[in-house]
Amino acid sequence: MISFRDIERGLQDLKIPSQTPVIVHASLSAFGDVQGGAESVLGALARCYNAILMPTFTYKTMIIPSAGPENNGLVYGSGRQSNLMAEFYNPTMPADKMMWVVAEKLRNLPAAKRSSHPILSFSGIHMDAVLNKQSIYNPLGPIQELANQQGWVLLLGVDHTVNTSLHLAERLSGRKQFIRWALTPQGISECPNFPGCSDGFNAIAPYLGSITRQINIGNATVQALPLLPMLDVTLELLRKMPGALLCDIPGCERCYAVRQLLAQPLA
Ligand SMILES: [Zn+2]
Repeated sequence: MISFRDIERGLQDLKIPSQTPVIVHASLSAFGDVQGGAESVLGALARCYNAILMPTFTYKTMIIPSAGPENNGLVYGSGRQSNLMAEFYNPTMPADKMMWVVAEKLRNLPAAKRSSHPILSFSGIHMDAVLNKQSIYNPLGPIQELANQQGWVLLLGVDHTVNTSLHLAERLSGRKQFIRWALTPQGISECPNFPGCSDGFNAIAPYLGSITRQINIGNATVQALPLLPMLDVTLELLRKMPGALLCDIPGCERCYAVRQLLAQPLA
């Protein structure tokens, strides 16, 4: 069983100044038994960093229409069942379970604020300027602002497949973005510039070795990376190898759509 102090000490070993804003992706279960659970993880984070951002995405608001733009990484009409389960977005909607409990704890802090994207909202403390950079057209605006503020990425017991910030490098490289739709009280909201699939993101790890700080806390591997250099390295790879970081999962519609475009001869 590990304690709040163990987590705090581990984070301190990363030697990131407390004034550095961080985006955190955390799996509670990866640590093993944690005394105090998600509250201890969040408490230790809050002791070590002044400004913390986490994704609190809500994919459960998504609707699949019966028709839409071509090559959009989506099988139109395939959502007859899932559309019935879709929920109207509201700002107090819990983050999806796949975002894990630590992000939910952060969202529920009295001091926390949340951006308003109906699918890709972020929650944070002392992150107002970052959260304000998100719009329906620019879902990754907060990541760009965090990079501008010399922010860092923390992966607590998770790997690059959940490293949302890598999507910004994809977008900056000119990689195709998608359109998705969300159910909101104002009607169905079109969400452009929706990022691609992240299942192939672990392929970036060897390129980031020299800028990654890594420690263990309990059973969890913890990685920390400075955002701007991480984006630079990823952008360079994507420029050299435009198909990098796509996944090999059969039937992945978004990776297929990107590959289709890459296969087209240049006009
Ligand atoms: Zn994929």
